[in-house]
Amino acid sequence: MTEYSHNVDGVPATLAVGKVVCVGRNFADHAKELNNAIPTEPVLFIKPSTALVNLEMPIAIPLNFGSCHFETEMAVLIGDKLTCCDERQAAGAIAGVGVALDLTLRDLQSELKDKRLPWEKAKGFDGACPMSAFVSPQNIGDIQNQQIRLSQNGVLQQNGNSADMLTPVLPLLVYISQFFSLLPGDIVLTGTPAGVGPLAIGDRLEVSLGDMIKLETEVLGRD
Ligand code: ZN
Repeated sequence: MTEYSHNVDGVPATLAVGKVVCVGRNFADHAKELNNAIPTEPVLFIKPSTALVNLEMPIAIPLNFGSCHFETEMAVLIGDKLTCCDERQAAGAIAGVGVALDLTLRDLQSELKDKRLPWEKAKGFDGACPMSAFVSPQNIGDIQNQQIRLSQNGVLQQNGNSADMLTPVLPLLVYISQFFSLLPGDIVLTGTPAGVGPLAIGDRLEVSLGDMIKLETEVLGRD
């Protein structure tokens, strides 16, 4: 696996590679497709830094743990420490906006959920967070009006908009920072719209965020 590092506006960033804090069920249409209730407050989980890989490189998915689903999500790169922050501090701490896949071993996750056990193995495995290069907040435009798209072998599977987040980015960062300090180099994934599905070896994926990020990648297997 090649070493992951952050990149903002085409330049390697000096920020450390940290944890990835994720929110589940932040789009009503996705909560519904998995038969989950719409939560009254954000559902948080964390992927370790070892989950990060470059989305532009071929994606290696585990083969021995059942289905591996794609979830296409807007990602926010943190540039300043946030602890119990307010929205103004949160806005000032955004160093970049990108697009990531929250890879999920769905069969394993369902099994763990049924047993009321934590999801970590299903969401935090090595390579579980393929991440694009970031665009600086000055260049991305309105972060709450970004189209989030994934096509699989030429078929559009996910086509949502960040306007439809149940908890928008700034209140989400405020909420997260009450539990977990966000450090420079951490990433926050902001939830997936509907249309998630299984990946197969040989799939060609086209992933985009708004007008600024568009990339192609492919899926490989690994033991
Ligand atoms: Zn997700």
